[in-house]
Amino acid sequence: MNTPEQSQSLFARAQELIPGGVNSPVRAFGSVGGTPRFMQRADRQMIYDVDGNAYVDYIGSWGPMILGHNHPAVLRAVQQAIGNGLSFGAATQAEVEMASLVCSMVPSVEMVRMVNSGTEAVMSAVRAARGYTGRDRIIKFAGCYHGHCDAMLVKAGSGVMTSGVPDSAGVPAGCAMDTLTAAYNDLDSVRELFSENPGQVAAVILEPVAANMGVVEPKEGFLKGLRQLCDENGAVLIFDEVITGFRLSLTGAQGVYGVTPDLCTFGKIIGAGMPVGAYGGKREIMQTISPVGRVYQAGTLSGNPVAMAAGIAQLSHLRDTPEVYTQVNALGDYLRDGMRRVIEAHHAPCQVTGVGSLCCLFFTPEPVTDYESAKTADTARFARYFHFMLQHGQSLAPSQFEAIFLSCAHTRENLDEYLELLDRFFTQQP
Ligand SMILES: *Cc1c(COP(=O)(O)O)cnc(C)c1O
Repeated sequence: MNTPEQSQSLFARAQELIPGGVNSPVRAFGSVGGTPRFMQRADRQMIYDVDGNAYVDYIGSWGPMILGHNHPAVLRAVQQAIGNGLSFGAATQAEVEMASLVCSMVPSVEMVRMVNSGTEAVMSAVRAARGYTGRDRIIKFAGCYHGHCDAMLVKAGSGVMTSGVPDSAGVPAGCAMDTLTAAYNDLDSVRELFSENPGQVAAVILEPVAANMGVVEPKEGFLKGLRQLCDENGAVLIFDEVITGFRLSLTGAQGVYGVTPDLCTFGKIIGAGMPVGAYGGKREIMQTISPVGRVYQAGTLSGNPVAMAAGIAQLSHLRDTPEVYTQVNALGDYLRDGMRRVIEAHHAPCQVTGVGSLCCLFFTPEPVTDYESAKTADTARFARYFHFMLQHGQSLAPSQFEAIFLSCAHTRENLDEYLELLDRFFTQQP
């Protein structure tokens, strides 16, 4: 491993020019310390930094790269699209194709609107739910991240969790006032909020599998119970599938758990690495959006032709090759089983969580079912594990509260190498 000299000097310059040297906080290594590696290129499951080091990439751009980097079908589509111009600000055939793909793949989506990020998708879906119901309040869950729009920066997990700031400065109290926070996997906490705010709750929003406080699975009956509570109280159920969409299955988490939301949001995989988000669901709710309805939402670059080409290529590859899911989910099972074996052998006080191609290693002796239990993790120990792995060519998310993202470009040999290193880590630092 070369010393990260180039990264160090770039990081020093970046910190003069960009707040914290990064364009998204978690990249700054704040919770693990040390110098973030500046990346130069990636291919398949590998990523390479500016100092000539190679890493197995377990971040995958935080989710989009389910097929690995540089999938030929995606690259070909992008190369073809750029020859026709980068942006028109006008309707295109690609947008119709994308909408038709999403609606045909995800049964709960009758209509869909494209945006440029997951944040925008959530912000717009929440606005649609408020416009549709004529109500203001939203129920979200502690530890669920839904992007950085004001109303969602309450107990938001992930980057916010490790920066030690409970909420963000700059969010008006009035904005956060309408955001009610329930406990993940705790239906009673939701029931209570509904009864304290009768006729005022526009929507319940959650990650159907939480993946921004580490990975936390929904307990049996939790999602179904939310569906029922929303129906009883006339609230819109929003699944934020920005991570789980097109990852856990062709139909996302809603397909895996058999619960149908009214609206859902997408990001990450839907853009194959380009800046894309989308929200969609029931026709009746989507028809409240402008120009047909009175809920305003727009975007100069929304439905961008190059971004659409990338997304269409990735989604149609997934639809036409559903073996991808068998393969990538089997890798997930293999990794989780292996991690559990290593942990047991060392009597390490850790938890392995995850579903499908999302995995997580929590450094806590307590089972993790919600934000409170996730917070019991020993983040100093995570930091030592993170740097040990980085030194040995494994690029993991630089935070305890993120997932390991697998792609179908990863191999059993990659996972065996990781597991061997995990074994060595616990041997050296029991
Ligand atoms: C990443 C993420 C978002 C925000 O998406 P951006 O594209 O980063 O704005 C929203 N919700 C969830 C569940 C996410 O993981």
